[in-house]
Amino acid sequence: VFLSLTVAAHLALLLLLVGNATLDGVVLAGYLVYHGMVGWAVVHPRSRLFGPNRSRLDTRERVVALTFDDGPHPQITEQVLAILRAREARATFFLIGKWVERYPEVVRRIVADGHTIGNHTYAHSYHLWAFGPQHIADEVRHAQRSIASISGRTCRLFRAPVGLKSCFLNPVLKRQDLELVSWGLRVPSKTDRDSLLRRLRRRVVPGSIVLLHDGHDRKPEGHPQIVETLPVVLDELDAMGYRCVPIG
Ligand SMILES: [Zn+2]
Repeated sequence: VFLSLTVAAHLALLLLLVGNATLDGVVLAGYLVYHGMVGWAVVHPRSRLFGPNRSRLDTRERVVALTFDDGPHPQITEQVLAILRAREARATFFLIGKWVERYPEVVRRIVADGHTIGNHTYAHSYHLWAFGPQHIADEVRHAQRSIASISGRTCRLFRAPVGLKSCFLNPVLKRQDLELVSWGLRVPSKTDRDSLLRRLRRRVVPGSIVLLHDGHDRKPEGHPQIVETLPVVLDELDAMGYRCVPIG
């Protein structure tokens, strides 16, 4: 509703202005710039126009935070945990509430292994950024309750589905004592070794928050390729002198 009202109001404004001399050019330019900014703020993972948004750890140490989104997944998450355990690496898992309820034992294993868990909404709607404040609050609270009742932990970190934000998101997170976390670089689950290594060498800096996926919001198979990609990532980070830490 919010979105359609906004669109309607702007279309009406445009119709009023069309055909009214040079001032229109200025108004139109302002309109385009404004919408460019808002669009960028919604889409860009590191944008802060709508409020605080952590995309990097505040450190000069050679540490990185690996983050896994869209789980828990009954098979993939277990394999990811085994890989991390073997290398004594700690990470952060942003969990989808509906999967938390379906695979509670995986959530407990993540916590038992010493990883941090975060809230990634209940249903992982791609349109969360277009919802009103009440709808966003419900989505966040629903996941928060499911995760707490199953894991015994209260999440302090939140990641928006697909990283899309809105002006309503931050006030909701503040009221529920959650911090918005995005990322500095994304590692695709399926990638060839050379471009993966190039990406890591070019983009990783002290405190980088790295986005990876174990589960999938829709596909039951999750992201099986992560099982091949993750050891390459860990080996390369190790070779670069980086240690993996959970987001504190
Ligand atoms: Zn996600």
